[in-house]
Amino acid sequence: MTAIQAGRTAAGVIFASVLTTWIPGELPAQAAAPFTVEWYPDTPMAGAATIITLHAVDQDAARAVEEIAGTFGGQELHFDLSDGLSFSALGGVPLDRSGQMEISLIVHTSDAAQVTLTAQLTAAAADYGTDTLTVPPRFTDALDSATASRVANERRMSRGVTDVAHSTARMWEGSFSLPRMARVTSRFGRTRVLNGEPRGRHTGTDLDGEEGDLVQAAAAGIVAIAQEFFYSGNVVFINHGAGLITTYSHLSQIEVSEGQSVRRGEVIGRVGATGRVTGPHLHWAARYGSIALNPLTLVDPKLTELLP
Ligand SMILES: [Zn+2]
Repeated sequence: MTAIQAGRTAAGVIFASVLTTWIPGELPAQAAAPFTVEWYPDTPMAGAATIITLHAVDQDAARAVEEIAGTFGGQELHFDLSDGLSFSALGGVPLDRSGQMEISLIVHTSDAAQVTLTAQLTAAAADYGTDTLTVPPRFTDALDSATASRVANERRMSRGVTDVAHSTARMWEGSFSLPRMARVTSRFGRTRVLNGEPRGRHTGTDLDGEEGDLVQAAAAGIVAIAQEFFYSGNVVFINHGAGLITTYSHLSQIEVSEGQSVRRGEVIGRVGATGRVTGPHLHWAARYGSIALNPLTLVDPKLTELLP
């Protein structure tokens, strides 16, 4: 087996050096590195979508790659050949993480070798701020047992989409678009304090809208959930494949059904105020597996052009 020792030499890039197979009585020889690992952005913020790229040094090394198994942020990665020499995957930095994070890759090659690469990415600490809101008491009252079990069931359904997305091939290509061309009314990541009680983080981006305004799919995928949830109201989950999911909450109307394929820009619903909200708006959220992503980081064209 060939082992790779990787050392970080520049932000965003590691160069790996190979220790060739140990032959008793000989010193291990240094050979040219067959792979390097790179990522974008260089220092992603907590909640940022991130592209991880494995570069092969030459065509022979690239052709020898049979499979790449990788994890980042506790989620498996799905690599695609993005040009003749590079393989890229989408990942994400969890909202509660900052500092050093490990990218761990195992490259299986046609000569039955298994090359292990690890790289240390530094995630930037993000201070997304706090919203202190006064809301009607029903927003913070304890749930009755029937509602609590309904909410638990809806959370199970939501988590179930994670497994489905990880086992579906990527269905989008090109850039993501905003589901509405509208002002951001509440940013991703903010801590919410409702009536003096901390209630967790805002794991989506709120876009302004009037009741009935159109909501469009941010990218191609399959409608995984199109139902009324207690907190989210009428909600659409789109499974984009390769671990990625986007959700569209508080809709007045759902215009798609579960199992339906949608294209980027296709109308999937209308802005509303269903669920636990004080007024009409679109809560747009994205997840890589179970990691809540800032959906606006998916709209960055530099990010998506790194994928084939
Ligand atoms: Zn929201």
